[in-house]
Amino acid sequence: KKIILSGMQPSGILTIGNYLGALKNWVTLQSEYDCLFMVVDLHALTVKQVPADLRSRCLSFSAQYLASGIDPEQSTIFLQSHVSEHAELAWVLNTMAYMGELSRMTQFKDKSQRHEENVNAGLLTYPVLMAADVLLYQANLVPVGSDQKQHLELTRDLAQRFNQRYSETFTVPEPFIPKVGARIMSLQDPTKKMSKSDENPDAYIGILETPEVIRRKIKRAVTDSGTDVRFDETRPGVSNLITIHAALSGKSVQEIEDHFAGKGYGDLKGELAELLVEGLAPIQKRYAELMGDKTGLEQILARGAERARGRARRTLSKVFRKVGLVPAQ
Ligand code: ATP
Ligand code: MG
Repeated sequence: KKIILSGMQPSGILTIGNYLGALKNWVTLQSEYDCLFMVVDLHALTVKQVPADLRSRCLSFSAQYLASGIDPEQSTIFLQSHVSEHAELAWVLNTMAYMGELSRMTQFKDKSQRHEENVNAGLLTYPVLMAADVLLYQANLVPVGSDQKQHLELTRDLAQRFNQRYSETFTVPEPFIPKVGARIMSLQDPTKKMSKSDENPDAYIGILETPEVIRRKIKRAVTDSGTDVRFDETRPGVSNLITIHAALSGKSVQEIEDHFAGKGYGDLKGELAELLVEGLAPIQKRYAELMGDKTGLEQILARGAERARGRARRTLSKVFRKVGLVPAQ
């Protein structure tokens, strides 16, 4: 089985973009691939966090992975910080990554402009930690959005650099573009992607939000001039709503357009809000059950970390030996 690794940063709240664009796909990949899914809490430390909030978000995100259908028997689900090998391999890779290539990363440039008060070294070496995440498990495939493409390229470069300098050690991963999987846009500016760290909460819908909030946010979603429900590039607002409808209802764009022929945006919004409420309800119910049993949740994460650690250790020992560190007895 090919190995797939993916993770999300515990910042903000998980949105229907994260669900329809990532989580839902992860669930379908589980049976066909050997999957590792993490909550990348170490990455989250590159921006200032309120410790208590970060802690509860890590558990909440894990529970949302599980509630969305990640099966802890089939997949390995864990918190990044529970497997210390991530930080250890990242150190070795840091010594092989060049300042030049790291400072050229678009995301570093963006983030250091946006967080001028906290341009810490972790922001610069973030992609090296990501490389460690992937290479530790010899992952073949990494699902990446466009914003992570450059980082995966660096991961590949570091893997090849290590393999050449020492000897064949790391699998060089490929980007994985799922066959299906929607790209969901912001409800307030449909030319931007929906993002869980958007400062305007009306721009996204959270997986755990109540029916009232969902209905209100859909009602407020920006639409375009024109009235008929038709998918086209000049009308990103309605097109986005159609995309979300299609992802939830399983209908094709054509079927949705036909269904709303002679009707308007209001009808689309009304139906879409109900689809979301119904679609998210079972996830929210499972989530509440999981969060009601914290000990059970922590046990699942402990088992996941243990499985991950065994695999990570194997790679890290090889790496330590090859670079010339003395094995601990
Ligand atoms: P942030 O603003 O903190 O970067 P984000 O919503 O972009 O938050 P990420 O943690 O960067 O979330 O990404 C988690 C996963 O969700 C990735 O696999 C990413 O491709 C996917 N994803 C994020 N936003 C969307 C979206 N709008 N549509 C589809 N997939 C998305
Ligand atoms: Mg992102």
